Amino acid sequence: MKLICIGRNYTEHIEELANEKPTDPVVFLKPDTAILLKKQPFFIPDFSNDVHHEVEVLIKICKVGKYIDAKFAHKYYNEIGLGIDFTARDLQAKLKAKGLPWEKAKSFDGAAVIGSWVSKEKFTSVNELNFSLEKNGKKVQVGNTANMLWKIDEIIAYVSQYFTLKIGDVIFTGTPSGVGKVAINDCLEGFLENEKLFSIRVK
Ligand code: ZN
Repeated sequence: MKLICIGRNYTEHIEELANEKPTDPVVFLKPDTAILLKKQPFFIPDFSNDVHHEVEVLIKICKVGKYIDAKFAHKYYNEIGLGIDFTARDLQAKLKAKGLPWEKAKSFDGAAVIGSWVSKEKFTSVNELNFSLEKNGKKVQVGNTANMLWKIDEIIAYVSQYFTLKIGDVIFTGTPSGVGKVAINDCLEGFLENEKLFSIRVK
């Protein structure tokens, strides 16, 4: 399985990193080895002094598809989740400056947190989901999927032009503003509509 990630999907986050607003979605991949194993702490890798949390709404693909039309995209996922796209911001900045790929900064072991899954039937609309991240009990990121530049069904349509989507693939839909550095002993907890979907300890 693969993890397909969308960058720069919330205006306020684009502004906080002083990035250009994209005309097409920014897409990158993480391998399955990036998934943080259940109940394991996140270890800050020794090649970075500035690992940031990015809380993101996740989609789990339940049907194989390619060139999916946005109006049929809802048939390709049944579950919604929440996770973290850990990013070695210092390394990413160096790679970005040279126009190089981001994988070393985004796709290292443990860089993808995938919380518990929730049936999408539980929600009236996937385009109005509140979510947040608490660090040591304090809210640091708050988002609503209504503020996405590309909505979930548009993301599925877009990425499936390039990659065949397979059962079990996970899409990270981008982070809202409030990203920040993590430190040893931090506790990160993710909430989707007030339900806690993950709790991670940083080591
Ligand atoms: Zn991200």
